[in-house]
Amino acid sequence: MSDQTEQTKSHGRISIRASAKPRVLMEEPQLVKGAWVAKVITLLPDAFPGTLGLSLIGKALDFGIWRLETIDLRTFGEGKHRNVDDTPAGGGAGMVLRADVVNAALRQTAEGTPPDRTRWPVIYLSPRGRPFDQATARRFAACDGMTLLCGRFEGVDQRVLDLHQIEEVSLGDFVLTGGEIAAQALLDATVRLLPGVLGNAASTVEESFSDGLLEHSHYTRPALWEGLEIPAVLQSGNHADIARWRRAEAESLTRARRPDLWEKRSK
Ligand code: SAH
Repeated sequence: MSDQTEQTKSHGRISIRASAKPRVLMEEPQLVKGAWVAKVITLLPDAFPGTLGLSLIGKALDFGIWRLETIDLRTFGEGKHRNVDDTPAGGGAGMVLRADVVNAALRQTAEGTPPDRTRWPVIYLSPRGRPFDQATARRFAACDGMTLLCGRFEGVDQRVLDLHQIEEVSLGDFVLTGGEIAAQALLDATVRLLPGVLGNAASTVEESFSDGLLEHSHYTRPALWEGLEIPAVLQSGNHADIARWRRAEAESLTRARRPDLWEKRSK
């Protein structure tokens, strides 16, 4: 791939590092007007855009519907070795990301973003956080943008999370080695809800969770495959019958697989 193609492909992607030099205002990355912005603080900036650079979300990035800024936490580290972590107070295994280092990264990242957390949430990806769900993705998509802090090792010094009123969000009840995959999953789910990202707007209305139900099953041609047929009603052409069938399927699937969702709905 030529440099030129690389250049056009990287539109909307910005990498930020700490610098001792005072910065010239005109050189500051300008926010594209109207673009939804994700700022990601990470020790692994090379992990981005990752899957976010591909397919629909990647096209939306190239079109400037959203912008991605990665902030390399390492560059805020202490001393020659740019140390970012230290041993846990009270002892125990592993390392903890230092409050002063994360604070410096958060402060620089906050430049040019609204301090109002309802317009610009600041999130720490963490297994202790509130479970991420479709309603949260919708809330984030309605904001101007957001800042995501990816943890590593045992996590982050609690004091910096408290000081910056950081909201903790979890991807689920399991432990990853770092927040990067979680951040990408969260961003994928959020960015696809931005206007103009998905071709067919109806697809976000009917899909799983949008009305508190799992989605019905899908089928496509051939009508008969390995002796298995597509349900007859889907081939009937009767749209009212099809809608009723899909609704019933969504309800019975939700009851069987996710009694917790079903319970919440019927309340
Ligand atoms: N000691 C922590 C786990 C640290 S895992 C604990 O037991 O709670 C290292 C980093 O991975 C975390 O700081 C977080 O940013 C990320 N991470 C791990 N699991 C995650 C999950 N389920 N959801 C979101 N982020 C997660």
